[in-house]
Amino acid sequence: MRYEGKLYRPPSEADAYIVQATIGCSWNHCTYCDMYRDKSFRVRDLAETLADLDAAGRAFGPRVEKVFVADGDALVLPMTHWRAILAKAGACFPNLRRVSCYAMAQNVTEKSAAELRELHDAGLTTLYIGPESGDDVTLRRIAKGANAAEHVVAARMAREAGMSLSVIALLGVAGDRSDEHARATARLVTDMDPAFFAALTVKVVPGTPLARLRSSGRFEVPPVPDLLRELRTMVDLARPTDALFRTNHASNHLPLGGRLPRDREPIVRAIDAAIEGRIRLRPEAVRGL
Ligand code: SF4
Repeated sequence: MRYEGKLYRPPSEADAYIVQATIGCSWNHCTYCDMYRDKSFRVRDLAETLADLDAAGRAFGPRVEKVFVADGDALVLPMTHWRAILAKAGACFPNLRRVSCYAMAQNVTEKSAAELRELHDAGLTTLYIGPESGDDVTLRRIAKGANAAEHVVAARMAREAGMSLSVIALLGVAGDRSDEHARATARLVTDMDPAFFAALTVKVVPGTPLARLRSSGRFEVPPVPDLLRELRTMVDLARPTDALFRTNHASNHLPLGGRLPRDREPIVRAIDAAIEGRIRLRPEAVRGL
C-alpha cells in the first residue's frame, strides 16, 4: 500500500480502504483548492494499483467493506483500469459493500450511459461531486470547469446508472454573491437530487488563486452570520427527494445532520438559533480543511 503525497477522502469514507489509482486531479484549476497543487496529474500504473489491492486484501481481507478510489477525480480513469480495479477489489475483499470516488461533472458526461451502468454493476456505487455552487457566475469565477446545467446532466446520468450521488456545496466561496450562491445552490441540489448533500466552508489557503484574489481585494469570505444564512437558504429551499444532509466536515462552524426535506424545519431552527447566538459555534482555532 504505497501512497504518494497527501491523501483526501470524504468524512463518510473514514472507514474505507483507500487505493490511489490516480495521482492528483486531472483538472487542478479550482481557485480555492490546494489539495493536489503539488502533484502533476497522472494515471498510476495499473499493475501497481492492483498490487496494492492484493496487499490490502492479504492484510485486511474480510474487514474491508468500503473502498475509496483516490485521488481528486478518479472517475477520469479509463474503463480498462476501472474494470480491473473493481474486479480485483471484489476478489480481495469478500465483504465489500461499496466502492466510491470523487468525480467532476465532466468525468461523468465523458462516459457513456452503458459504461456508467457497467461501472455501477461492477461495484462503483457512489460518486462524490462538488459543484460547490449552483450559481453560474460563481462557477466561472472559481474555475469549476462546468456550469450548473452540466452538473444536472451529469447527476441524471449517474442516477440513471444506479449510482448514489453525494453533492458538496461550499459556503462562502461566492464572496459578494452570497445570496445568489445560496439560492442557486439550493436549486442545483434539487435538480441533481442526490442521496447525500454536504456543505463545507471555504478556507482561503495560501498559494491558491483565491488567496491572490483576496490579497488584491477582489475576494473576501463573508462574515460568519452570512455563512450561516447561506446554509439556512440552502436547507430551506432545496428539495431533493430524500437526501442525508451533513455539515460535519471540520471546516464548518455548525455541525448539523438530518434528512432533507424531511428535517428541514428543525435544521432551519437550529441555524436560526446559531445566527442569534443561542448555539455555540465551533471555535475558529479548531476548524480545519
Ligand atoms: S476538481 Fe476537485 S480536486 Fe480538482 S481542483 Fe477542483 S476541487 Fe480540487
